[in-house]
Amino acid sequence: MQRSVFILLLALSEIGAGQTSANRVEGWVDPYRANAEKLIAAAQADQFAWERLAELTDTFGQRLSGSGNLTRAIAWAVDAMKKDGLENVHTERVMVPNWVRGNESLEITNPPHHVIPMLGLGGSIATPPAGVEAEVMVVANGDDLTKRAADAKGKIVLFNVPYTSYGETVPFRSGGASMAARHGAVASLVRAVGPVGLRTPHTGGMNYANDVAKIPTAAITAEDANRIQRLVNRGVKVRLRLKMEAKFEADVESFNVVGEIKGSEKPEEIVLVGGHFDSWDPGTGASDDGVGCVVTWEAARLMKKLNIRPKRTVRVVLFTNEENGTRGGNGYRDQHAKEAANHILAVESDSGVFAPARLGFTGSDAARKIISEIATLLAPLGMQEISGGGGGADIGPIAALGKVPMMAYSGDSNKYFTIHHTPADTVDRIEPAEVSKAAASLAAMIYVVADMPQSLPK
Ligand SMILES: [Zn+2]
Repeated sequence: MQRSVFILLLALSEIGAGQTSANRVEGWVDPYRANAEKLIAAAQADQFAWERLAELTDTFGQRLSGSGNLTRAIAWAVDAMKKDGLENVHTERVMVPNWVRGNESLEITNPPHHVIPMLGLGGSIATPPAGVEAEVMVVANGDDLTKRAADAKGKIVLFNVPYTSYGETVPFRSGGASMAARHGAVASLVRAVGPVGLRTPHTGGMNYANDVAKIPTAAITAEDANRIQRLVNRGVKVRLRLKMEAKFEADVESFNVVGEIKGSEKPEEIVLVGGHFDSWDPGTGASDDGVGCVVTWEAARLMKKLNIRPKRTVRVVLFTNEENGTRGGNGYRDQHAKEAANHILAVESDSGVFAPARLGFTGSDAARKIISEIATLLAPLGMQEISGGGGGADIGPIAALGKVPMMAYSGDSNKYFTIHHTPADTVDRIEPAEVSKAAASLAAMIYVVADMPQSLPK
């Protein structure tokens, strides 16, 4: 018998649960059922979490890194956490990039003049004040661009790549400008990354390669990309004028917000939960990621409210600057490097809460078994199946350093990516019951992991 298994059995026997099997005590989660049910009932008793999300997004709106809105929202969150009675509430300083969009526009200048809705991509440079005017070259993907590379010189290259999944399509947003610039393009456009919506462009981050000229870049809607494609297919030479004022100003100070429920027996062991508090600027960052912050924060608030204090510390972190820098997640790792290995689980919610939602886990088989057993307590929510895909951009750095198992709460991706990084990311699209369900499942899961006799194995 491995020493760790022996300790596990010894520890489990302390709570007096059921029969022993090869390496597990049958029914070991039963003693947790009452508190889990209390947490679930409290989360579903009202719309507190949805109301908090509405207050956050109505009051502060978009929370782009470097904006006054984000700074004000952070101060509000600190105050609200203190009012909730969370412990050790404080901020941790991080310097963040300050990309400023400025005015921007795109128009078809020929054939007849037409203004096209667009959003500059985060990180893009500006055009000259008069804009960039050129003929558009539509490409289906990177191979198509390479094949017709000689035609790209002096053109505005449009990547009209239909959305399949975020992972498959996003490289054209993040890397399209440099792909086009390599062949002499003067600007690049990308069909917005998301399912076809209501002619709504999606912004998002982009990066320039170091070995090629920087050109301005923006997203347009699927409808406009297809329209331009059809015109070009008919042999029309479509000319576009792109104007952008985008620029980076000097980095500014920002903060991760931290609040805790201190563990009663093993306070040095940490269950980390959170989302990112910054957002892109077109909408109000409700699904991405105000709701992720609120539902993970809610797990701790509910424990406090119900006077449930687990053995280990539950630490809520509202990370700054996920969208265009991940400086919050990296800053957390750097500031907590010494206790990285003390993190026994890291949980992130950054994929919305749209039904059907799921909890995903990434970690060892031994840990997954335990998480799956805890998840039986979520049967009343219909969330007892644990999928793969735990993790997140903010918890990733500390998890990599401390070899920490990760969980994610993920909503339906089609609904999420339809409004992702658009003006339509508002609280109106989020059902209060879906917010409560997320808070309920996270609270119950996190409570048991933080309180169970054995530490979650790595
Ligand atoms: Zn996000």
